[in-house]
Amino acid sequence: LIQLEGIHKAFGDLHVLKDCDLSVAPGEVTVLIGPSGSGKSTLLRCINQLEEPTAGRVRIAGVTQGYAEEPLADGRWQKLPSAEIARQRSRIGMVFQRFHLFPHMTALANIMEAPIQVLGRSKAEAKESALALLERVGLSDRADHYPSELSGGQQQRVAIARALAMEPELMLFDEPTSALDPELVAEVLAVLKELAEGGMTMIVVTHEMGFAREVADRVVFMDEGMIVEQGTAQELIETPRSDRLQDFLASVL
Ligand code: ATP
Ligand code: MG
Repeated sequence: LIQLEGIHKAFGDLHVLKDCDLSVAPGEVTVLIGPSGSGKSTLLRCINQLEEPTAGRVRIAGVTQGYAEEPLADGRWQKLPSAEIARQRSRIGMVFQRFHLFPHMTALANIMEAPIQVLGRSKAEAKESALALLERVGLSDRADHYPSELSGGQQQRVAIARALAMEPELMLFDEPTSALDPELVAEVLAVLKELAEGGMTMIVVTHEMGFAREVADRVVFMDEGMIVEQGTAQELIETPRSDRLQDFLASVL
């Protein structure tokens, strides 16, 4: 479903991603780990076109993201119009460390907003599916609460429901539990686990190695902008090949 081919990203002289190749099959759960600054967030941001790779290409379900499929006669690749880029982006759900809910809207209204505005759903349809999503993340009784009236874990679950309301083909999570108090982490990971079991294709940046062991089909270790090792959680934890992964695991386990 996802293919990254030679992704390179530089900010000026700073080379943040170096020749990253990765493919993720439909329904696969990939956990991305690596030290701070190794490029994990930037890689996710390239996948959903919040950043434009300096080189390489991202393909989702066989479709090149951001550019026309064929180069122009002079060999240049033609950028897609912004409406088309927005449409591609809307197929990908993203959940961040901070929840970014609309503070002046209830949980229910937060979830209904994009389906109405972007997908053109009727209010009634959007409400029905938002209520179903709230139930799915265990928050049926919090529909009319504002974000300030919800715990961090509850806000994050609303943020997940809001992303799911767009019926994405895949979900990207960037440290979805790292801003939460420890006692709230489990409820969010439980929602992720259920999503995974439901067959959602996901890439999750997290250092929760228990979650990786239990849920991830594959764990990818990044360091200094490169994909250094990948394998099952067990393989990486029990037989890390590089010193850098050993050091990293020692810091998170
Ligand atoms: P963390 O675990 O701390 O979230 P990360 O692995 O997600 O780290 P990134 O956020 O992808 O790392 O950052 C990788 C490198 O790119 C860092 O050195 C960061 O300072 C740099 N970087 C990220 N975004 C920008 C930007 N917009 N402009 C310049 N440098 C950037
Ligand atoms: Mg990051």
